[in-house]
Amino acid sequence: MSDNASTTTTSKGGSKRKLEVSHQELTNSVSETPTPPPISEGGSPPESGSELKKPRSSSFSRIAGPNNPDTSSPPLPLMTDEERLEKMKGACETILQCIGEDPEREGLVKTPKRWAEALLFLTKGYTQTVEEVTNDAIFEEGLGGANDMVVVRDIDIHSLCEHHMVPFTGKVHVGYIPRRKVLGISKIARIAEVYARRLQVQERLTREIGSAIMNAINPLGVAVVVECSHMCMVMRGVQKVGSNTVTSSVLGCFQTDQKTRSEFFSIINGGNFRR
Ligand SMILES: [Zn+2]
Repeated sequence: MSDNASTTTTSKGGSKRKLEVSHQELTNSVSETPTPPPISEGGSPPESGSELKKPRSSSFSRIAGPNNPDTSSPPLPLMTDEERLEKMKGACETILQCIGEDPEREGLVKTPKRWAEALLFLTKGYTQTVEEVTNDAIFEEGLGGANDMVVVRDIDIHSLCEHHMVPFTGKVHVGYIPRRKVLGISKIARIAEVYARRLQVQERLTREIGSAIMNAINPLGVAVVVECSHMCMVMRGVQKVGSNTVTSSVLGCFQTDQKTRSEFFSIINGGNFRR
């Protein structure tokens, strides 16, 4: 998914008007300021701390162990893979009947199984943790490299909106300024994937990516911009084809330092952003 992601390391300044505006309008700071995000339909529900702390079931073979330090995943119900698939197939047959289809029809006979497997794949982020995907790819940088901004641009993401369970797809752009540690470049894409492969709203996805990078390497700051097209809006005509929803989250020095923020938005604007 990160094949066409590009990376820039820079410490130069500069800014472009367009993104500054979109940043000011759309910034959804993670600093617990309860400013409602202005863009996504329905808005984001408040983060629920309680659901994040429960232990996860160990009967589901793909999930991490009970000692997993990543508390960002909600618990999975106690079920084997087979039980899970059977239940989902039954649910899919019910849905097919409800929309006026015949689940026995030749073309649909295998659809419930395919759908169940596809949905499990599309939500596999519930069984993954940031610790797993960043394993062995956090490096200590000498102080010489400190204060250089690392920007990874155009990371493709595919997610499902939690309101309609319909896809939204687009790009993620991430910038951070290392304190001592840096992440392997491909790992930023992997972190984005962990959260994108869950039912999401775009604002929360944006915040979660930023917080995860903050927690993983404790940089001086992190900035995340996500631009996506939401099928639940496009296909119903609420959003025009080709238009995107843009969300951003800034932490640390990106939050406190206007110049750093400008530099980041200038870098992502200077490339393929908002063509
Ligand atoms: Zn939706």
